[in-house]
Amino acid sequence: MGFRAVTAALGLVIVTAGTVSPAPAAAQAAPSHAQVHAARLLAGRDPRAALSKLQEIKRREPGDALALRLQADEAQCRILSDSDPKLARQLAEAAAAVALPAPVDAGVRVAAMRLAACGAGVLLDLGGAEQGGRELDQLLEQAGGDPALGEAGVMALLERGLHRSRAGELVTGQADLLRACTELQARALALDLELCHSHLANHYKRMGDTDEALRLLEPLLQAARARGAHADAGVYLHGLAQIRFTRQEWDLALANFEASRAVAHDAGDTIGLAYAEFGAAHALLRKGRAADAMPRAQHAAALLADGNDPQQSLRIAVLIATLHNELKQTTQALTQLRAVATTVQARGDEPLLADWHRAHAQAQSQTGGWREAYESLKAAEAYLQREQAQQLSQQSARLRMQFNRTQDLAELQALRTLDAQRTQLLHTQALALALFVALLGAAVWFGVQKRHEARRLGTLAMGDELTGLLNRRALLQRLDAELQRARRNRHPVSVLMVDADHFKSINDTHGHAAGDQVLRHLAALLTKALRAGDWVGRLGGEEFLAVLPDASLDHTRSIAERMREAVAASPCPTPRGALALTVSIGAASHRGDGESSEALLQRADGALYAAKSQGRNRVCVAGPQAA
Ligand code: GH3
Ligand code: MG
Ligand code: MG
Repeated sequence: MGFRAVTAALGLVIVTAGTVSPAPAAAQAAPSHAQVHAARLLAGRDPRAALSKLQEIKRREPGDALALRLQADEAQCRILSDSDPKLARQLAEAAAAVALPAPVDAGVRVAAMRLAACGAGVLLDLGGAEQGGRELDQLLEQAGGDPALGEAGVMALLERGLHRSRAGELVTGQADLLRACTELQARALALDLELCHSHLANHYKRMGDTDEALRLLEPLLQAARARGAHADAGVYLHGLAQIRFTRQEWDLALANFEASRAVAHDAGDTIGLAYAEFGAAHALLRKGRAADAMPRAQHAAALLADGNDPQQSLRIAVLIATLHNELKQTTQALTQLRAVATTVQARGDEPLLADWHRAHAQAQSQTGGWREAYESLKAAEAYLQREQAQQLSQQSARLRMQFNRTQDLAELQALRTLDAQRTQLLHTQALALALFVALLGAAVWFGVQKRHEARRLGTLAMGDELTGLLNRRALLQRLDAELQRARRNRHPVSVLMVDADHFKSINDTHGHAAGDQVLRHLAALLTKALRAGDWVGRLGGEEFLAVLPDASLDHTRSIAERMREAVAASPCPTPRGALALTVSIGAASHRGDGESSEALLQRADGALYAAKSQGRNRVCVAGPQAA
C-alpha cells in the first residue's frame, strides 16, 4: 500500500542481492530461521522495516545456508505481492535462476518451491493466467508424490485457491483454500495459516457469506492486535468494515472504518487512509449524515489526487455527487457527475455505473428533468439486475458446496442476502414506476392543457376563415372600443356596410367555390381602398363592415365611392373567366351623443337597404335619425 515508493527504491538491491553475497560482518551472529520468522512477524507491523531486515539477513548469510536465503526471498515476495507485484515476481525469478546444487536437500527444495509458489501467484495477479497456472500445476505435481515436499504443495494449493476465487471459480477456489488451511493447521504453520485464513475470509466476503467472513476475520484482528501487527490489523479492520457495511450495520461499519483510518494514518499509508475515509463517508451517508460525510469524501478525493488509483477516484467522485444530492446542491451534483461521465462509461465497472446513474437520476429529478431521471433510473436498474444475476449464480454455487459444515446457516444467510437484494431491486423498480407514472401524468396533463388551450383559442378566434379579415365578433368588439375612444377624444367615427349585389346568382350560376373566390377578391379590394388606421371585417355572408375613425361624413362618402368604383372596375378572375361585380354601400357617422354601436349599425343597414332599393351599385349615407 503506502510503501510502494520505498520498495521501488529497494527493488534493485533486493533482486541483485540474490546473486551477490558480500562478506558477512564478523562481529554479528550468523542469521537464522528464527530471524526470518521474526521479520515475517515484523511485516505485520511495519512492512518497510521487515523488508530491510530481510535484506540484511540475505546480506549476512554466509553463502552456504541456501534454504535461509530462499525463505528470506519468499518473505520479501509475500510482503511485496500487494504493494509491488512486479518486483515480487522479479525476486522469485532471480532466485529460480540460481542453479540448485545437484544433491539438494529437502529443506532447500521446499524453500525454493514455496518461493516459486509465491512467484506464480504474483504472476497470476499480474494477469499471466496461463503461465502462472502452469507453474502452480507443476509445483503441485512435484509436491504430490513426496511427503517431505507437502508443505510447498500446500502453499501452491493456497495460491491456486486464491486465484480461482478471485477469477470467480468459487466452488473449486473454496475447496482449495479450505484444504490448504486445514493442512497448514495440521502442520502448525501459524503465519501461513493466518495468511490462508485472511484469503479465505476474503473469499467468503466475495461470496456474500458475511457470517463466515466475520467468523474468520475477528480472531485474525485480535491476534494481529495482540502481537502489535498494526499494518495487518489495519487490513483486517478494513475488511471487517466492508462486511459490516454490506450487512447494513452502519454504526459498526463506521467504527471499523474509523479504526482502520487511524492505523493508516499512523503508518503514513495514504492509500489506506483514502479508502478508510471513503468508507467512513459512505457509512455516514447511510446514517443520514451527509453533511458530516462530505468533508471525509473530499479528503479521500484529495488523498488520491495523484491519479494512481483512477477506479477509486471515480467511486469517490460519484459518492461526492450523491452527497451533493442529499444536501440539495443539485447543480454541484450535476457538474460533478458530468465531469466523470465519460470516464465512468469507459471503465465499464457495472456497480460504479449503477451508482452514477442513480446519482444522476436523483439530481435530474430534483431539477425536474424527469425524462433524464427516468432514463438514468432504467439504466441503473439494468446494471443492478445484472449484478444481482451474478450474485445469484454465486449464491447457487455456494449452495452446491458439499463440505460446508454449517450448511443450514449458510443457506439461511444466502436467503437473507437474496431477500435484501430483492428488496433493493423492488425499491428501485418502484422508484422507476413512480417516475414513469409521474412522466405519464405530466404527458396527460400537457395534453389536456393543450386541448383546453386550443378550445380557448378557438372561442377567442378573431379571424374569418375564408377571407382572413376580422370576423363578426371581433368587428363588434373593436367597434365598441373605437366608439369609446372616439367619445373620449371627441373624434368622429364612421362605418360602411358593404353588401355584394346579386351574390346569390353568382353562387347559383358559377358554384359555391366561385362565390368564395369572389368573397376573397372583395375582401382584398375593400382592404386596399381603406386608409391607414381604417379597418374592415366580414359581418357574415357577403356583407362587410368598414370602420373609419376620424372620418368626417364627406370624407366617408368619398371613401365609400372609391370602394364602390374599385369593385365595379375590378372583375373577379375565376377559371371560367372574369366575373363583373358591384357592391351597394350604406354609410353612417356616429352621432357622438352616446349612440350605441347597435344603433349606428342599424342606421348603416338602413342606408344599405336604401342603396339596394335605389338600384344597387351605389352609396347611400344615413341621416342622423334611426332608420
Ligand atoms: P342582394 O343584391 O339583394 O344582396 O342579393 P344577394 O343575392 O346578394 O343577397 P341574398 O341575401 O339573397 O343572398 C346572399 C347569398 O350569399 C346567399 C348565400 O347562399 C350566399 N352566401 C352566404 N355566405 C356565403 C359564403 O360564405 N360563400 C358563398 N359562396 N356564398 C355565401
Ligand atoms: Mg347581397
Ligand atoms: Mg346580403
